[in-house]
Amino acid sequence: MTKPIVNMEYVACNLCGMDDAVIVYRKRGKTIPIVYDIVKCRNCGLIYVNPRLTPTYKEKLYTDDYYEGKGFDAHFIGSTKKKEEDAKLLVRCIKDAILKDKEKPRLLEVGGGMD
Ligand SMILES: [Zn+2]
Repeated sequence: MTKPIVNMEYVACNLCGMDDAVIVYRKRGKTIPIVYDIVKCRNCGLIYVNPRLTPTYKEKLYTDDYYEGKGFDAHFIGSTKKKEEDAKLLVRCIKDAILKDKEKPRLLEVGGGMD
């Protein structure tokens, strides 16, 4: 599969509509060689990716081929020891994050990968 040119878009906060966020984390894409900024809205605290892949770009990535293991991430299909370990680590991180704020734990979404 030929990878399309990466198209990114800047977005305002999906929760409050404000366009005032600070970078809290950066993550390098595993299959697409770009760095994603994870930002936190200064108004409501929502944490999200910004800029993010455009819907048009995501449609080109996540074709039927992708879900058959023939897309840009051929390792998407199947299970490995590494995937199981990564999943367990993710669950531990989520539990720690929730337990960290015992008075008012909040978790909006645990979504898919960024590429
Ligand atoms: Zn917000």
